[in-house]
Amino acid sequence: MIGVDEALEKVLEHIEVLEAEESPILGCLGQVLAEDVSSTISIPPLDNSAMDGYAVRSADTRGASRQSPRILRVMDTIAAGAVSQSEVKPGTAVRIMTGAPIPKGADSVVKFEDTDELERQGDSGEAGILEEIEAGRDIRPAGEDIAAGSIVLTKGTVIRPAEVGVLASLGRTEVKVIRRPVVAILATGDEVVDIAQPLPEGKIYNSNSYSLAALVLRYGGIPKILGIAADIEDSLLARFRLGLGADMLITSGGVSLGDYDIVRDVLAKEGEIIFWRVREKPGKPLVFGVIKALSKAGGARNIPLFGLAGNPVSAMINFELFTRPAILQMMGKKSLAKPMVEAVIEEAIENTDGRRIFARAIVEKRGGKYFARLTGPQGSGILTSMARANGLVVVPEDKPGVKPGDSVRVMMLDWSEEEA
Ligand code: AMP
Ligand code: MG
Repeated sequence: MIGVDEALEKVLEHIEVLEAEESPILGCLGQVLAEDVSSTISIPPLDNSAMDGYAVRSADTRGASRQSPRILRVMDTIAAGAVSQSEVKPGTAVRIMTGAPIPKGADSVVKFEDTDELERQGDSGEAGILEEIEAGRDIRPAGEDIAAGSIVLTKGTVIRPAEVGVLASLGRTEVKVIRRPVVAILATGDEVVDIAQPLPEGKIYNSNSYSLAALVLRYGGIPKILGIAADIEDSLLARFRLGLGADMLITSGGVSLGDYDIVRDVLAKEGEIIFWRVREKPGKPLVFGVIKALSKAGGARNIPLFGLAGNPVSAMINFELFTRPAILQMMGKKSLAKPMVEAVIEEAIENTDGRRIFARAIVEKRGGKYFARLTGPQGSGILTSMARANGLVVVPEDKPGVKPGDSVRVMMLDWSEEEA
């Protein structure tokens, strides 16, 4: 049996970053950029108006006020997207809409609010300027956002909605990112039947494959549900082999000491066991190993295998602690840890056998402080305790427990690793 930290280290030692691929920009949210993105264009492409108003020569506004407007002759109107051929000569102005390029001769824009635009009925051919403005006012210079030739996004950046927008502003339809891992998920157990089937007496629905697939999706992977293997070696092997095209394999169940717990035996035949059993509660029977398989190019590659404990809570917590960071590392991410907060625990948790406890908790902020209370009974079969929880209270393995009022560390399940 090894400790939680050592187990995670061993897992990450065996996880390689996947290759890069071109992906449509909307398909790569949360993925890591695998190229420096530079721009061939300037944004905005031309000096343009920041306001609806008049493009003028600022010298023509000198001395203008509400009491003594400067009257300018209006030569043209430019909508956004159009380029005016008119030149603004002394004593003249061009009506201009937000985003439209500044016409030749003008050095500033007077917004409609600082003109008599509203009082003037119809098209008088003139505009009264009510305020003196300086050169450059309300002009957005070409290249203000992005200069042609510059690097806009650097390799290693995690793509968020803002990065998708920046890529679109460059006209990019695709970008190079580290690809998403395909994660094969196999349930085991003679008692497990798939959802959408009638439930015979003595059987339970396969919840693990679905909670695990949802976790894979949340962290950016592509789940591939392989169904349910019976607790006999042939069945397990056959299903197992369906997963060998994936980048990672997850099984649930069959890793304890029961008569039918054969996942470890199969893994030992197909690959190498790196560790079995972790000093944690729940989730102790976790097994981690690697299976040798062929890469598409014909070379050897290692498929990491997580044999998660079968109890629904244990499977999810094993995933959060070990599988999640592995997926993130495969995707080229550097922030692998969930954010932790200090909280005041409101009830006692006993630690009787020197394992690190992860207790499902509801964390709330009150008066600038975090408080944590348990979700109720903590049995590892009580999946609704995960549904109620937003955090896992950590009780260290070398502590006999915590009592109400103690300060504890809580892993925040719904917070992004990027916030840690
Ligand atoms: P095992 O480790 O195979 O003995 O499973 C431990 C417990 O988890 C048993 O009560 C199983 O019925 C339950 N279990 C195993 N696999 C699943 C699954 N796919 N969905 C829900 N419960 C499961
Ligand atoms: Mg089983």
